[in-house]
Amino acid sequence: MTEPGFKSGFVSIIGRPNVGKSTLLNRILGEKIAIVSDKPQTTRNRIMGVHHLPNAQIVFLDTPGIHKAKFDLNRRMVKAALGTLEGVNLILVMVDAREAPGQGDQFIIEHLKELKIPVFVLINKVDRVHKPSVLERIDQYSRLYDFAEVFPLSALKGDNVDRLVETIVKYLPEGAPLFPADTVTDQPLRTMAGELIREKILTRTRQELPYSVGVAVEDFKEDPDKNLVSIHVVIYVERESQKGIVIGKNGEMLKAVGTEARIEIERLVGCRVFVQLWVKVKKDWRSDEALLDQMGY
Ligand code: GDP
Ligand code: MG
Repeated sequence: MTEPGFKSGFVSIIGRPNVGKSTLLNRILGEKIAIVSDKPQTTRNRIMGVHHLPNAQIVFLDTPGIHKAKFDLNRRMVKAALGTLEGVNLILVMVDAREAPGQGDQFIIEHLKELKIPVFVLINKVDRVHKPSVLERIDQYSRLYDFAEVFPLSALKGDNVDRLVETIVKYLPEGAPLFPADTVTDQPLRTMAGELIREKILTRTRQELPYSVGVAVEDFKEDPDKNLVSIHVVIYVERESQKGIVIGKNGEMLKAVGTEARIEIERLVGCRVFVQLWVKVKKDWRSDEALLDQMGY
């Protein structure tokens, strides 16, 4: 039996790449389930995160940034983002307070018009702008679309995030919890492990390399007797020169990536972890449907 007044529903977070969608999800859940970096297109698939409250359950869908897609990988990413819009109870469109609305936002808003779902606009990164320009953004976005709510906030610092969560609950229908109380995400541990490795590579590399890196977890073995998880990972790059960058001088980059990722993966799985990293050059991996399937995109 559901308690009277309990609320539950799906909330999709969409927006252009790098505006802070995954940062917001992690901030609300108080746990890192989506990797974050300062490079666009960090998130490549839809990530579900369940927020449990005494009176409500909010199921968030974090999505890849919506952008013009050139590769199969990017087309899958945009499709994953737009695909979450059907059947959700609420849509959060996130934008960057530092930028005026542009073509990219227009493109996203076009997709909202046919859906009859309430939409909030979240004006993120207000910690980086002065108050008058926040007010200007509120005005500009209010003219673009009939948003149900306009929220200036800082996902990084947490400003206004509690009030956002309270307001989201108001928009959800009454209903029973959709997931058990111990469910935080639908991502398998092996996928999260691979993503953490990709995050460490992203934060340590520049320019075009992040887009060229794919991580495939080939083996994820749990050995309860030894209290150990062994992970075998292949890092795909597109060119020989990129392989050199990922490996680094005397293998130092790869070693640092492995160590940093291992520490976080150990926290995630709650036991000792052994990580084996392998770098392979595969020119067209971003168009290799089988490999993209294996990577979980
Ligand atoms: P996504 O691509 O939309 O998921 O964006 P991410 O969550 O990966 O964040 C992209 C970058 O913006 C990262 O470097 C974050 O630390 C940064 N970021 C996210 N939210 C905020 C914020 O409220 N303020 C500031 N200053 N930076 C933020
Ligand atoms: Mg993201």
